[in-house]
Amino acid sequence: ATLPYDDSNIFARILRGEIPATVVHEDEWAIAFNDIAPQAPVHILVIPRGPYVSWDDFSSHASPEEIAGFVRAIGQVARNHGLVAPGYRLLANIGVEAGQEVPHLHVHLFGGAPLGPMLV
Ligand code: 5GP
Repeated sequence: ATLPYDDSNIFARILRGEIPATVVHEDEWAIAFNDIAPQAPVHILVIPRGPYVSWDDFSSHASPEEIAGFVRAIGQVARNHGLVAPGYRLLANIGVEAGQEVPHLHVHLFGGAPLGPMLV
């Protein structure tokens, strides 16, 4: 089980427009914005609009439309940034041992340069 959703988390505040972010994509199901501390030339966070802490939470409770919308949004962001041909990396930290810092599910999208091997 994961923690209950805490809607004071920083990404919930970005979703509500309470704090600024450089939004690069938004639709009914997801928004995407630049990471505040980029670790690659392109470093975007894609999040579902719904209140999901983790992948466990999302995969078990989100509707098929939400799941499809989120997955499609990630693909659209990659296409819109010209990353399909060169390639890119998706990563999600889930829970304590992965070092998840923000308790709203997010997928990191890295690209824009050769990324090197995954370290873990
Ligand atoms: P995690 O470690 O949970 O996988 O990733 C959290 C990510 O959120 C980090 O890459 C961090 O730089 C980013 N982040 C934390 N606070 C903010 C913020 O206020 N705005 C944006 N745009 N990114 C943030």
